[in-house]
Amino acid sequence: MTNRILSIEDRVALNNGVRMPWLGLGVFLMREGGEVEDAIQWALEAGYRSIDTAAAYGNERGVGKAVRESSVPREELFITTKVWNTDLRAGRTLQAFDESLSRLQMDYVDLYLIHWPVSEGFIQPWKDLETIYRSGRARAIGVSNFLIHHLEGLPGKTGIVPAVNQIEFHPYLQQPELIRFCRAHEIQVEAWSPLMQGRIVSRSGLSGLAEKYQKHATQIVLRWNLQRGIVTIPKSSKKTHILQNANLFDFELTEADMQTLNGLDRNERIGAHPDHIPF
Ligand code: NDP
Repeated sequence: MTNRILSIEDRVALNNGVRMPWLGLGVFLMREGGEVEDAIQWALEAGYRSIDTAAAYGNERGVGKAVRESSVPREELFITTKVWNTDLRAGRTLQAFDESLSRLQMDYVDLYLIHWPVSEGFIQPWKDLETIYRSGRARAIGVSNFLIHHLEGLPGKTGIVPAVNQIEFHPYLQQPELIRFCRAHEIQVEAWSPLMQGRIVSRSGLSGLAEKYQKHATQIVLRWNLQRGIVTIPKSSKKTHILQNANLFDFELTEADMQTLNGLDRNERIGAHPDHIPF
C-alpha cells in the first residue's frame, strides 16, 4: 500500500509520539567547516528540517554551528547523532553522548542511535541510551544496522523499544523480512545510502521510470522510499542535488511502478554486513 506524503513538511509519528521528518539530509563524509555548513544552510532553505550526523563523521561541530547560524528555530529541527563502535566497546556510551552534545553545542538531540550492533555486546549501551532518553536529552532513541536477531536481543518487556532502525536500504537491497519485523514492532525504518552512494544514477533499471515521470533516477528512488513508508536521508554537498532530492512532492509513483521498483531487490549490499563489522 502506498504511503501518501504530500510535502517536505510531513512527518511520521515515532512509537513515542515524537514526529520525525520523512526526508532528511545525511552528512556522512562532509568535511567539518564550510562543506557541511553550506550544505545544511542550502538544505534548510529548501525546507529540510532533519539532519543525520554521527560522532564517527567528525562533523558534529559544523552541524551545530550551521544550526545555530540558521534562522530556523531549534524546536523545528530534528537532529540525529550516533554513538560509535569504539565508545560502545569501551563502555563509554554515556560519556560519548555528552561529548556529542558538547560538540553540537546543543542541550538535546532528537534521536540518538547505536551506530552498529558490535559483537562485544549492545545491551548495556542500550540501557545507557534508555538512561539518556529518560533524562530528556534525547527525544527518541534507536539503533542502526540491527538485524532481526540483534533486535530480538534487546531487553524485553521492561525495556524501551527502539523508535528507529537506520539500515542500508535501496532498490537493490530491500531486506523485506527485517522491514516486516520492524513494522510489527513499531520500529520506524530509515534508509541509509538510499542512492547507493550515488551509484543508483548509473543503474539501468531506473531509466524507464525516470523518463516516464520526467524526473531524475534519484528522485524516483527517494519517492519510492517515501511511498514505502521509509524515512530517507540522502547525502549531498551540492546545492543542485540538495534541491533535486527535495523535489519529490509533485508526483506520485503508481502502484505498478512501485512494484517494478520492489522487484529490483538483489540483496546487494554496498556497506558492511552487520554480522561482520570490519571497524
Ligand atoms: P547516499 O546514498 O545518500 O548517496 C550520496 C552520494 O550520492 C554522494 O556521492 C552524492 O554526491 C550523490 N548524490 C546525492 N544526490 C544526488 C543527485 N541528486 N544526483 C546525483 N548524485 C547525487 O549515500 P550515503 O552513504 O551518504 O547515505 C546517506 C546518509 O545515510 C549518510 O550521509 C549518513 O547520514 C547515513 N549513513 C548511515 C550509515 C549507518 O551506518 N548508520 C552508513 C552510511 C550512511 P554529491 O555530494 O556530489 O551530491
